[in-house]
Amino acid sequence: ALQVCLPLNALGFVYREARDAWVNAERLFALLRERPDVAEQAGLPRLRAGRGEVVFEQVSFGYEEARPVLRGVSFRIPPGHTVAVVGRSGSGKSTLARLLLRLYPPAQGRILIDGQDIATLSPSSVRAAIGVVPQDTALFNDSIGYNVAYGRLGCRPDEIESACRAAHVHELIMALPEQYETQVGERGVKISGGEKQRIAIARAVLKDPAILIFDEATSALDSDSEHAIQQELDRLSENRTTLIIAHRLSTIVGADEILVMDRGRIVERGSHAQLLSLKGLYARLWLLQQRLDEQTMLQRQTL
Ligand code: ADP
Ligand code: MG
Repeated sequence: ALQVCLPLNALGFVYREARDAWVNAERLFALLRERPDVAEQAGLPRLRAGRGEVVFEQVSFGYEEARPVLRGVSFRIPPGHTVAVVGRSGSGKSTLARLLLRLYPPAQGRILIDGQDIATLSPSSVRAAIGVVPQDTALFNDSIGYNVAYGRLGCRPDEIESACRAAHVHELIMALPEQYETQVGERGVKISGGEKQRIAIARAVLKDPAILIFDEATSALDSDSEHAIQQELDRLSENRTTLIIAHRLSTIVGADEILVMDRGRIVERGSHAQLLSLKGLYARLWLLQQRLDEQTMLQRQTL
């Protein structure tokens, strides 16, 4: 497999990106708050995107060689299906998403999209097939309209608006001083964590990809907005291959398969009902979550 994985500093990376004229690459990584280890390389074939089948085959990986983060992870998401990943913080869930985006190469094993080993493909072509709603979205110092359109540069204003309606962020934008032209980011109007997540959802709606990744996509929202946005996420993921990293188990009850991660391994897998009947880690996490939810409800009632 042809690939470069150089531990470059940010400047080296930006220089190479500029040289390779990989349009907007730095912006993409600023967006994901990631500095990829895998750089664009001239001459790599592009992904021939099909219906979006995703396969992990015995994937192992560590950010540092001495500390494995994923150990022999295998799963398949058939086109249009949804696989959810749950597990404690630090168990390797977001790392799965980063590897699927070809931000890092696996140390062992293969990741296939529509039958093609992504390690042999141009990273930008892999990323073009995937929409991401991350845990923590960064905004560019630009207009809010640009920030949404980044999902698909060159789209029409009415397409941006309908994506924003779907993500429940249109009303909010219309209330800003210059509506879609309002400057956001460090030098502009302050945007809350929940609003940023809605913008990330609008970007994904606009991008219309075959494959979606939600990484704790509603974690910055209060429970009422979470419910509204969850319905939009469900609609967005219909007929698309979806990898959901869940922080609330209630949002993934309907997933085709749930993977339970612990210290870089899949320790349990199955449907919600199958996992509950195992009475293992998933069942414990589920009970814990229900108790927390009950406490929150009680607190709300007494307030
Ligand atoms: P999760 O999403 O399940 O909370 P992550 O996949 O983000 O977990 O992280 C798995 C492990 O890898 C954690 O121990 C984390 O500290 C480590 N890790 C994550 N990102 C990096 C990085 N860029 N460099 C080094 N270690 C990292
Ligand atoms: Mg994570």
